[in-house]
Amino acid sequence: MWEEGKLACPLCGLSMSKGRYAYSSDVIIDRCEHCGGIWLDRGELARLRAFVHRPVPEDRLLMAQMEAQALKKKAQARELSQARATGAGASLGEILRILKEIFS
Ligand SMILES: [Zn+2]
Repeated sequence: MWEEGKLACPLCGLSMSKGRYAYSSDVIIDRCEHCGGIWLDRGELARLRAFVHRPVPEDRLLMAQMEAQALKKKAQARELSQARATGAGASLGEILRILKEIFS
């Protein structure tokens, strides 16, 4: 991913690595692994901003909505099964109360 670059770090003078930002952008940035500096060429900051704020493709938006709905359904099913479990406990209590009444 990050490969040896030819440029020296403007801060510490050691050689920097270069690599593509976020795997899929078309912006190649220079990074110094010695001092942690990241260096951009002219215009690259604007291109990074454009990449970060790029519109989400419609199919990915749809996928995210479907995932959110599935999670909501799962949560509702969990709530329902918990309510049923509680309901069963209550009716068991009711049965015990009736049994006590019968045998008292
Ligand atoms: Zn450096």
